Amino acid sequence: MNIEQEYIDAQALLDGHFLLASGNHSRRYLQSAKVLENPKRAELICNALADMIKKSGIKVDTVCAPALGGVLAGYELARSLGVRSIFVEKKDGGMELRRGFQVDKGEHILICEDIITTGGSAMKAAQAIEALGAKVVAFASLANRGFCKREGSNIKAKPECKLPSDIPFFALDDFTFEMYPPEECPMCKEGSVAIKPGSKS
Ligand code: ZN
Repeated sequence: MNIEQEYIDAQALLDGHFLLASGNHSRRYLQSAKVLENPKRAELICNALADMIKKSGIKVDTVCAPALGGVLAGYELARSLGVRSIFVEKKDGGMELRRGFQVDKGEHILICEDIITTGGSAMKAAQAIEALGAKVVAFASLANRGFCKREGSNIKAKPECKLPSDIPFFALDDFTFEMYPPEECPMCKEGSVAIKPGSKS
């Protein structure tokens, strides 16, 4: 599975001058919803991710995604793993389980995102789940932005990574393109204005 090629084929790896959620600027942007808009492509990608998780031998009872970004990937991964799919939603700076979803004490939960950058949303989802007594056994995303250490990669975790080092993180590849603080952004210096992609456009 060449996940970068899947993003390119889906026109989901955008080139330009982007303002990211972190406030940094970048020449590239990953629009994961575009990769997952094709259910057949979503199935193939999540099957590949599920294979990595199955090979690890980790027992997963349920996949939980932070809404909205992780929901499609989480649902498709759960289908591939043959387990239940739930999601948590934003509440007061954290996340909470709603809509009648429940978890059992000690239930093995995998937290799934579309892309893991520093893992902030994934950690909020994990905290919400663990507060209910379930156990987070793994994290997963389609691709890793290179701040956290994924299983099978030589890239080490950077200080910005919020994921715990003792819980495995599965992703299909590292997408490590550069980000710049606005004052150091070469595109800004050339006079171009960063646009905010993603959920609002
Ligand atoms: Zn810029």
